[in-house]
Amino acid sequence: MEPPKIYYFDNNATTRVAPEVVAAMVPFLSEHWGNPSSSYQFGKATARHIELAREKVAALIHADPREIIFTSCGTESNNSAIHSALITHPGKRHILTTAVEHSANIKFCEYLQKRGYEVTFLPVEPDGSLDIHLLEKSIRPDTAIVSVMLANNETGVIFPLEEIAAICRSKGVLIHTDAVQTPGKLKLNVADLGVDMLSLSAHKLHAPKGIGLLYVKKRTKYVPYVTGGGQERGRRGGTENVASMVAFGRAAELAMATLDDENTRVRALRDRLEKTILKTIPNTFRNGSRDSRLPNTSNLAFDHVEAEAILMLLDQAGICASSGSACTTGSLDPSHVLVAMGLTPARARASIRFSLGIYNTSEDVDYLLQHLPGIISRLRAVSHTHSKHGSERNAESSTRAVSAH
Ligand SMILES: *Cc1c(COP(=O)(O)O)cnc(C)c1O
Repeated sequence: MEPPKIYYFDNNATTRVAPEVVAAMVPFLSEHWGNPSSSYQFGKATARHIELAREKVAALIHADPREIIFTSCGTESNNSAIHSALITHPGKRHILTTAVEHSANIKFCEYLQKRGYEVTFLPVEPDGSLDIHLLEKSIRPDTAIVSVMLANNETGVIFPLEEIAAICRSKGVLIHTDAVQTPGKLKLNVADLGVDMLSLSAHKLHAPKGIGLLYVKKRTKYVPYVTGGGQERGRRGGTENVASMVAFGRAAELAMATLDDENTRVRALRDRLEKTILKTIPNTFRNGSRDSRLPNTSNLAFDHVEAEAILMLLDQAGICASSGSACTTGSLDPSHVLVAMGLTPARARASIRFSLGIYNTSEDVDYLLQHLPGIISRLRAVSHTHSKHGSERNAESSTRAVSAH
């Protein structure tokens, strides 16, 4: 049975595994399933494919393959980078990061705070940008690491990592960046960025979930986060996820090949979607900078409506989008990113992220634009009726009213 057609606008949450990637990985599940650390050929032969994959992911960011550590996900990569900095600098107990990082960073830093470390979460401007001067002033003699994402997963806002890394270098502080949202969207070159460590996750670039990497610049002291067997040259224990590593390598090649498509065709689709919504639906606003932004992301506020209610009606029409990050959906808390940008909790809870990708077509955007205005006006009508009955909490009552349908 064919699954029903979906209209997928949630590529920052995860992406479809490319057919080319499936084809590349399947032999390592079906035939070549040996352990790469074995002494016999059947196992050992797979090790060569890990190294080929390592070369391909290294090429994506212009690194040396020896600078790549495969991990289980972007979350592990971020945790590992910060963990290593703290262990290799035992006298330094301060971490500098931002208030808009992915929960993979924020939650780990909060955990470390409870263990006695000090963390500064830098605020952002209303357009989601960072005050670089403030960042510079916030680096302390006891700062072990600065961790700043390259592009935000909720708004697409890009941070000037080159500038930030130059400041860190001049102060002799390690700089890590969570670049998970950027492959296939931005050109990536670790030397140009000037970072010491960089995280990626394969499922954001059309490979499977459960595989990531951490780039660690040559001669950077590194202590493993997952300790066990001597895999990854002693830097990450655990039997290698060979099929997923091969998949990641193939996806890295494709991401370089689709960079143009993402920056021309996908960008144009995103811009048409955004412009049409802002023009035709009243009381809608873009969250975050228009220009310093990934080409695929649009985060929009629909005042007086609850995002969860919009998502539910979009879902009924087969449209996938999200509020905040997939990792926090389901909680009623407004997005920490939008709140850090100074949005009121009400407007943050009225915001939806549309994130496009290489598989989106013009017809997908037409379909969304056909359905969305009706959904918003229907929800606003419900919310308006309720407010006439004295409810102040328009958005919330509209959610309930719609849920009851
Ligand atoms: C998805 C994402 C992560 C987490 O990656 P996982 O592989 O899902 O752990 C981290 N940072 C950003 C910016 C992301 O978008």
